[in-house]
Amino acid sequence: MKTNFVPRVNQLDSIQLDNEIVNILKEQIYNVIRNLPPGLLSRFQPEINLLASSALWNFSIRQSFATFGQQMLSITYEKDQLTPDKLKAHYFLTVALAYLKELAQFRLTGYTVLQRSITTLENCLTCLNFVNFFRFLRTGRKPSLVDYVLRLDHRSIDGAKRRTIGYSYMTRELIWAGFMELLGFTIPIVNYHALKRRLRNLLRLEVRPQEVQRIVLGVDSKCVYCNERVTLPHHMGCGHVFCYYCLKGNLLADCGFQCNVCDFKSGVFERVVAG
Ligand SMILES: [Zn+2]
Ligand SMILES: [Zn+2]
Repeated sequence: MKTNFVPRVNQLDSIQLDNEIVNILKEQIYNVIRNLPPGLLSRFQPEINLLASSALWNFSIRQSFATFGQQMLSITYEKDQLTPDKLKAHYFLTVALAYLKELAQFRLTGYTVLQRSITTLENCLTCLNFVNFFRFLRTGRKPSLVDYVLRLDHRSIDGAKRRTIGYSYMTRELIWAGFMELLGFTIPIVNYHALKRRLRNLLRLEVRPQEVQRIVLGVDSKCVYCNERVTLPHHMGCGHVFCYYCLKGNLLADCGFQCNVCDFKSGVFERVVAG
Protein backbone atom coordinates (compact mmCIF):
# COMPACT_ATOMS: atom_id res chain seq x y z
CA MET A 1 0.00 0.00 0.00
CA LYS A 2 1.70 3.19 -1.16
CA THR A 3 1.00 6.45 0.58
CA ASN A 4 2.23 9.96 0.08
CA PHE A 5 2.92 10.49 3.74
CA VAL A 6 6.38 9.52 4.93
CA PRO A 7 7.43 10.53 8.47
CA ARG A 8 10.16 13.15 8.42
CA VAL A 9 12.35 11.07 10.70
CA ASN A 10 12.30 8.20 8.19
CA GLN A 11 13.30 10.50 5.34
CA LEU A 12 16.18 11.97 7.34
CA ASP A 13 17.27 8.52 8.51
CA SER A 14 17.34 7.25 4.94
CA ILE A 15 19.86 9.98 4.07
CA GLN A 16 21.97 9.06 7.09
CA LEU A 17 21.86 5.39 6.12
CA ASP A 18 22.94 6.21 2.57
CA ASN A 19 25.92 8.17 3.86
CA GLU A 20 26.85 5.29 6.18
CA ILE A 21 26.64 2.76 3.34
CA VAL A 22 28.96 4.88 1.18
CA ASN A 23 31.40 5.25 4.08
CA ILE A 24 31.42 1.50 4.78
CA LEU A 25 32.11 0.74 1.11
CA LYS A 26 34.88 3.34 0.91
CA GLU A 27 36.44 1.96 4.09
CA GLN A 28 36.50 -1.55 2.61
CA ILE A 29 38.12 -0.26 -0.57
CA TYR A 30 40.64 1.69 1.46
CA ASN A 31 41.53 -1.44 3.44
CA VAL A 32 42.23 -3.29 0.19
CA ILE A 33 44.32 -0.42 -1.22
CA ARG A 34 46.34 -0.15 1.98
CA ASN A 35 47.78 -3.64 1.49
CA LEU A 36 49.01 -2.85 -2.01
CA PRO A 37 52.37 -1.17 -2.67
CA PRO A 38 52.10 2.56 -1.89
CA GLY A 39 51.19 4.81 -4.80
CA LEU A 40 49.89 1.99 -7.00
CA LEU A 41 46.17 2.75 -6.67
CA SER A 42 46.07 5.77 -4.38
CA ARG A 43 46.49 8.16 -7.32
CA PHE A 44 43.29 6.75 -8.80
CA GLN A 45 41.34 7.55 -5.64
CA PRO A 46 38.77 9.80 -7.42
CA GLU A 47 38.13 7.14 -10.08
CA ILE A 48 37.79 4.39 -7.47
CA ASN A 49 35.31 6.52 -5.54
CA LEU A 50 33.43 7.23 -8.77
CA LEU A 51 33.25 3.50 -9.55
CA ALA A 52 31.95 2.68 -6.06
CA SER A 53 29.33 5.45 -6.08
CA SER A 54 28.28 4.60 -9.64
CA ALA A 55 27.81 0.95 -8.69
CA LEU A 56 25.75 1.94 -5.65
CA TRP A 57 23.68 4.33 -7.77
CA ASN A 58 23.14 1.76 -10.51
CA PHE A 59 21.96 -1.01 -8.19
CA SER A 60 19.74 1.27 -6.15
CA ILE A 61 18.26 4.28 -7.95
CA ARG A 62 18.44 2.99 -11.52
CA GLN A 63 17.14 -0.49 -10.80
CA SER A 64 14.79 -0.01 -7.85
CA PHE A 65 14.05 3.74 -7.90
CA ALA A 66 15.18 4.00 -4.29
CA THR A 67 18.51 4.33 -2.54
CA PHE A 68 19.59 1.50 -0.23
CA GLY A 69 18.89 3.66 2.79
CA GLN A 70 15.37 4.30 1.53
CA GLN A 71 14.84 0.60 0.81
CA MET A 72 15.75 -0.24 4.41
CA LEU A 73 13.00 2.09 5.62
CA SER A 74 10.41 1.05 2.98
CA ILE A 75 10.63 4.35 1.13
CA THR A 76 10.85 4.76 -2.63
CA TYR A 77 10.79 7.48 -5.26
CA GLU A 78 7.71 7.67 -7.45
CA LYS A 79 8.57 5.67 -10.55
CA ASP A 80 6.83 8.02 -13.00
CA GLN A 81 8.61 11.01 -11.47
CA LEU A 82 12.01 9.55 -12.31
CA THR A 83 11.97 9.95 -16.10
CA PRO A 84 15.15 9.00 -18.02
CA ASP A 85 16.16 12.66 -18.16
CA LYS A 86 15.70 13.07 -14.45
CA LEU A 87 17.65 9.86 -13.86
CA LYS A 88 20.56 11.31 -15.82
CA ALA A 89 20.30 14.57 -13.90
CA HIS A 90 20.16 12.62 -10.62
CA TYR A 91 23.31 10.71 -11.56
CA PHE A 92 25.07 13.92 -12.51
CA LEU A 93 24.11 15.75 -9.32
CA THR A 94 24.77 12.94 -6.86
CA VAL A 95 27.69 11.01 -8.41
CA ALA A 96 29.37 12.87 -11.27
CA LEU A 97 29.49 16.24 -9.52
CA ALA A 98 31.24 14.73 -6.51
CA TYR A 99 33.75 13.09 -8.87
CA LEU A 100 34.44 16.38 -10.69
CA LYS A 101 35.00 18.11 -7.37
CA GLU A 102 37.41 15.39 -6.20
CA LEU A 103 39.18 15.49 -9.54
CA ALA A 104 39.73 19.24 -9.29
CA GLN A 105 40.94 18.97 -5.70
CA PHE A 106 43.29 16.03 -6.44
CA ARG A 107 44.75 16.86 -9.83
CA LEU A 108 44.32 20.62 -10.40
CA THR A 109 45.85 21.86 -7.17
CA GLY A 110 47.85 24.56 -9.02
CA TYR A 111 44.80 26.54 -10.12
CA THR A 112 44.07 28.74 -7.13
CA VAL A 113 41.11 30.49 -8.79
CA LEU A 114 39.47 27.14 -9.45
CA GLN A 115 40.09 25.93 -5.90
CA ARG A 116 38.68 29.15 -4.49
CA SER A 117 35.58 28.98 -6.65
CA ILE A 118 35.02 25.35 -5.57
CA THR A 119 35.16 26.45 -1.93
CA THR A 120 32.71 29.30 -2.62
CA LEU A 121 30.38 26.93 -4.46
CA GLU A 122 30.53 24.45 -1.60
CA ASN A 123 29.69 27.19 0.90
CA CYS A 124 26.75 28.28 -1.25
CA LEU A 125 25.49 24.68 -1.41
CA THR A 126 25.79 24.33 2.36
CA CYS A 127 23.69 27.51 2.81
CA LEU A 128 21.11 26.26 0.32
CA ASN A 129 20.98 22.90 2.10
CA PHE A 130 20.40 24.73 5.35
CA VAL A 131 17.49 26.70 3.88
CA ASN A 132 16.12 23.55 2.27
CA PHE A 133 16.25 21.76 5.59
CA PHE A 134 13.94 24.34 7.17
CA ARG A 135 11.60 24.07 4.19
CA PHE A 136 11.63 20.29 4.65
CA LEU A 137 10.85 20.59 8.36
CA ARG A 138 7.84 22.75 7.50
CA THR A 139 6.47 20.75 4.60
CA GLY A 140 7.84 17.24 5.28
CA ARG A 141 8.73 16.75 1.62
CA LYS A 142 11.97 16.56 -0.42
CA PRO A 143 14.58 16.36 2.36
CA SER A 144 17.64 16.79 0.14
CA LEU A 145 18.52 19.60 -2.23
CA VAL A 146 18.72 17.15 -5.16
CA ASP A 147 15.16 15.98 -4.44
CA TYR A 148 14.00 19.59 -4.39
CA VAL A 149 15.77 20.54 -7.63
CA LEU A 150 14.46 17.46 -9.45
CA ARG A 151 11.02 17.63 -7.80
CA LEU A 152 11.20 14.11 -6.45
CA ASP A 153 8.82 12.99 -3.74
CA HIS A 154 9.26 10.12 -1.33
CA ARG A 155 6.55 7.49 -1.06
CA SER A 156 6.05 4.93 1.63
CA ILE A 157 5.65 1.32 0.52
CA ASP A 158 4.16 -0.08 3.72
CA GLY A 159 1.58 2.62 4.36
CA ALA A 160 3.79 4.82 6.54
CA LYS A 161 3.62 2.61 9.57
CA ARG A 162 4.78 4.26 12.72
CA ARG A 163 8.10 2.94 13.82
CA THR A 164 7.99 0.76 16.90
CA ILE A 165 10.63 1.49 19.47
CA GLY A 166 12.05 -1.40 21.50
CA TYR A 167 13.10 -0.64 25.04
CA SER A 168 14.91 -3.93 25.70
CA TYR A 169 18.29 -2.40 24.96
CA MET A 170 17.64 0.51 27.29
CA THR A 171 16.43 -1.83 30.05
CA ARG A 172 19.58 -3.90 29.73
CA GLU A 173 21.70 -0.75 30.00
CA LEU A 174 19.79 0.34 33.12
CA ILE A 175 20.22 -3.05 34.81
CA TRP A 176 23.92 -3.08 34.01
CA ALA A 177 24.38 0.49 35.30
CA GLY A 178 22.53 -0.43 38.52
CA PHE A 179 24.72 -3.51 38.99
CA MET A 180 27.90 -1.45 38.50
CA GLU A 181 26.67 1.07 41.08
CA LEU A 182 26.00 -1.75 43.54
CA LEU A 183 29.50 -3.14 43.03
CA GLY A 184 30.99 0.34 43.43
CA PHE A 185 29.15 0.71 46.72
CA THR A 186 29.84 -2.73 48.24
CA ILE A 187 33.42 -3.44 47.15
CA PRO A 188 35.04 -0.73 49.34
CA ILE A 189 33.15 -2.10 52.39
CA VAL A 190 34.72 -5.57 52.16
CA ASN A 191 38.11 -5.82 53.90
CA TYR A 192 40.06 -8.07 51.59
CA HIS A 193 43.15 -8.10 53.76
CA ALA A 194 41.26 -9.56 56.72
CA LEU A 195 39.40 -11.93 54.42
CA LYS A 196 42.65 -13.14 52.89
CA ARG A 197 44.20 -13.67 56.33
CA ARG A 198 41.19 -15.64 57.61
CA LEU A 199 41.12 -17.79 54.50
CA ARG A 200 44.83 -18.47 54.74
CA ASN A 201 44.52 -19.53 58.39
CA LEU A 202 41.56 -21.73 57.52
CA LEU A 203 43.33 -23.54 54.72
CA ARG A 204 46.62 -23.96 56.56
CA LEU A 205 47.08 -27.36 58.19
CA GLU A 206 50.11 -26.96 60.44
CA VAL A 207 50.25 -24.22 63.05
CA ARG A 208 53.49 -22.29 63.12
CA PRO A 209 54.98 -21.78 66.58
CA GLN A 210 54.80 -18.20 67.75
CA GLU A 211 58.16 -17.58 69.31
CA VAL A 212 59.81 -14.25 69.69
CA GLN A 213 63.19 -14.08 68.01
CA ARG A 214 65.93 -11.57 68.35
CA ILE A 215 65.77 -8.80 65.79
CA VAL A 216 68.78 -8.72 63.55
CA LEU A 217 69.24 -5.52 61.58
CA GLY A 218 72.19 -5.23 59.21
CA VAL A 219 73.11 -3.13 56.20
CA ASP A 220 71.55 -5.62 53.81
CA SER A 221 68.44 -6.37 55.87
CA LYS A 222 65.34 -6.84 53.77
CA CYS A 223 61.73 -6.13 54.63
CA VAL A 224 59.93 -9.46 54.99
CA TYR A 225 56.82 -8.05 53.34
CA CYS A 226 58.10 -6.35 50.18
CA ASN A 227 61.48 -8.13 50.01
CA GLU A 228 63.25 -4.85 49.26
CA ARG A 229 65.95 -3.13 51.28
CA VAL A 230 64.19 -2.02 54.44
CA THR A 231 63.33 1.67 54.79
CA LEU A 232 62.57 3.12 58.22
CA PRO A 233 62.76 -0.33 59.89
CA HIS A 234 59.90 -1.23 62.21
CA HIS A 235 58.82 -4.44 63.91
CA MET A 236 55.66 -5.87 65.41
CA GLY A 237 57.15 -7.90 68.23
CA CYS A 238 58.49 -10.91 66.34
CA GLY A 239 62.04 -11.06 65.01
CA HIS A 240 61.17 -9.80 61.56
CA VAL A 241 61.81 -6.38 60.18
CA PHE A 242 59.34 -4.42 58.07
CA CYS A 243 59.49 -1.07 56.29
CA TYR A 244 57.49 1.60 58.07
CA TYR A 245 54.98 1.81 55.23
CA CYS A 246 54.64 -1.96 54.74
CA LEU A 247 53.78 -2.56 58.40
CA LYS A 248 51.75 0.60 58.99
CA GLY A 249 49.72 0.07 55.82
CA ASN A 250 48.91 -3.53 56.69
CA LEU A 251 48.01 -2.72 60.29
CA LEU A 252 45.73 0.09 59.13
CA ALA A 253 44.03 -2.14 56.55
CA ASP A 254 43.63 -5.11 58.90
CA CYS A 255 43.87 -4.69 62.67
CA GLY A 256 44.50 -8.45 63.06
CA PHE A 257 47.48 -8.43 60.69
CA GLN A 258 49.89 -11.32 61.27
CA CYS A 259 53.54 -11.41 60.32
CA ASN A 260 53.65 -13.05 56.93
CA VAL A 261 56.62 -15.21 57.88
CA CYS A 262 55.91 -16.44 61.39
CA ASP A 263 52.20 -15.57 61.82
CA PHE A 264 53.00 -13.55 64.91
CA LYS A 265 50.10 -11.37 65.90
CA SER A 266 50.24 -8.37 68.20
CA GLY A 267 49.32 -4.74 68.35
CA VAL A 268 52.97 -3.74 68.66
CA PHE A 269 54.36 -1.17 66.26
CA GLU A 270 57.83 -0.07 67.15
CA ARG A 271 60.92 1.28 65.53
CA VAL A 272 63.90 -1.02 65.29
CA VAL A 273 66.89 0.60 66.91
CA ALA A 274 70.17 -0.59 65.46
CA GLY A 275 72.69 -1.63 67.96
ZN1 LIG B 1 58.73 -3.32 52.98
ZN1 LIG C 1 57.61 -12.51 62.13
